[in-house]
Amino acid sequence: MQKKKDEMVIVGGGAAGLAAAVLCARNGVNVTLLEQNDRLGKKILVSGNGKCNIGNKTVSPERFHSQNPAFVKTVLKGYDAKIIEIFFHSIGLELVEGKEGKLFPMSMQAASVVELLEYAALEAGVKIVRSCAVNRVDRVDNHFTLETSQGTFNTETLLLASGSVAAPKLGGSSAGYAFATRMGHTLVPRYPSLVQLVSEERWVKQCAGVKLPGTATLFANGMQVTQKEGDLLFTPYGISGLTILDLSREVSLHLAQFDYCELSLDLMPRFTKEQLTNLLLGRVDAKSQKPLALWLQGILHKKLVPRILEVSKVKAKTESELNRKEIGKLVYALKHLKLSISDTKGFEHAEVATGGVNTAEVDPETMMSKVVKNLYFAGEILDVDGDRGGFNFHFAWVSAMRAAKATSAPASLGTSTSA
Ligand SMILES: Cc1cc2nc3c(=O)[nH]c(=O)nc-3n(C[C@H](O)[C@H](O)[C@H](O)COP(=O)(O)OP(=O)(O)OC[C@H]3O[C@@H](n4cnc5c(N)ncnc54)[C@H](O)[C@@H]3O)c2cc1C
Repeated sequence: MQKKKDEMVIVGGGAAGLAAAVLCARNGVNVTLLEQNDRLGKKILVSGNGKCNIGNKTVSPERFHSQNPAFVKTVLKGYDAKIIEIFFHSIGLELVEGKEGKLFPMSMQAASVVELLEYAALEAGVKIVRSCAVNRVDRVDNHFTLETSQGTFNTETLLLASGSVAAPKLGGSSAGYAFATRMGHTLVPRYPSLVQLVSEERWVKQCAGVKLPGTATLFANGMQVTQKEGDLLFTPYGISGLTILDLSREVSLHLAQFDYCELSLDLMPRFTKEQLTNLLLGRVDAKSQKPLALWLQGILHKKLVPRILEVSKVKAKTESELNRKEIGKLVYALKHLKLSISDTKGFEHAEVATGGVNTAEVDPETMMSKVVKNLYFAGEILDVDGDRGGFNFHFAWVSAMRAAKATSAPASLGTSTSA
């Protein structure tokens, strides 16, 4: 058996911590992995609706957000989707490509990702300590001392892979930030991202349960910020759906600055204004006394009809009373339905957090702290968050790979030699 050369403690048995543990241990490092939960990789287990959107073929720096884009660019250089496929192949997990370049385990089961990562870690000799919450980290001489719920651990090399504050029920915690700041690091403010939005408007509650394809344009203090397309889901608290998750990051940042945030919803994104006008004009029977609300149900969910009638201020009560001007008002309401946003659903419901440990203080080649020697970071603890679509896992895997390479040269992604 290969003699273990160095020792290292990794805080966090999530995506980044597990990947780093496997790679470091394979290179002969004596790795101890501390995880506060009784199970490893809880976020992985629920990710992608249980299927785990593990990465994305179309990865590029533009899909990530950080105060320091140059950091992300360097981390990603040479670390594309192929390298992830090679790593997972090395642990026995094959990937398949879905829509929009999304990568999934071939099993379509998130559990297989965790189980194979755990097996690979144990096989490589990683000591995994579950239900072990790290409460405090001190730098003493050239060592780190970790006070945990299972006693004290000492190590020369420490990797903080304790994730972000998002989704606390799955292990989201701010502990890692506290350890980093105690050792001299600074933080970029954290806000919830990929999260549902809250509205105080009453009509929206009456539409709860309605899901439809739609576009949402975010305005902050009246200025257009961003536009996303996907689906919209009205809920008792406000609005959700993929369109909303995708623009929630911007909403969080603007709400933090006390900006007035309003969405303009296009409920008919498949039609241009002209096409919708023609569609509606073509539906009008000048002789029909059909109530207008019922007439609208021919193209729109019943629960949304009262709001469209209210905001469009049409005077017509029946189909026969409609004229071109009234149709124009309806078209405008259908394509520009306003919804004010008062809050997000917070970290409790967020998939990721923006912000984190300031990446200006971390070497993007090695993930080592520029403040404290032999302190490394990987994953979402850093001020890097990605778009929906597998980009957050991508960053977790590749930052772990970089940290592993730096802490346990010669680097190897696994037993696979295919490139
Ligand atoms: C519901 C949901 C669905 C998601 N779906 C996707 C998806 O499909 N694709 C995608 O790319 N991303 C997805 N994400 C985001 C993705 O899960 C994270 O970006 C990723 O897990 C971050 O990896 P990490 O290793 O940095 O942190 P984590 O995976 O969160 O791991 C950190 C670990 O550290 C542990 N820890 C924290 N503090 C301590 C402490 N003091 N002591 C000991 N252990 C500690 C935590 O318990 C946790 O296990 C999803 C997130 C959620 C919440």
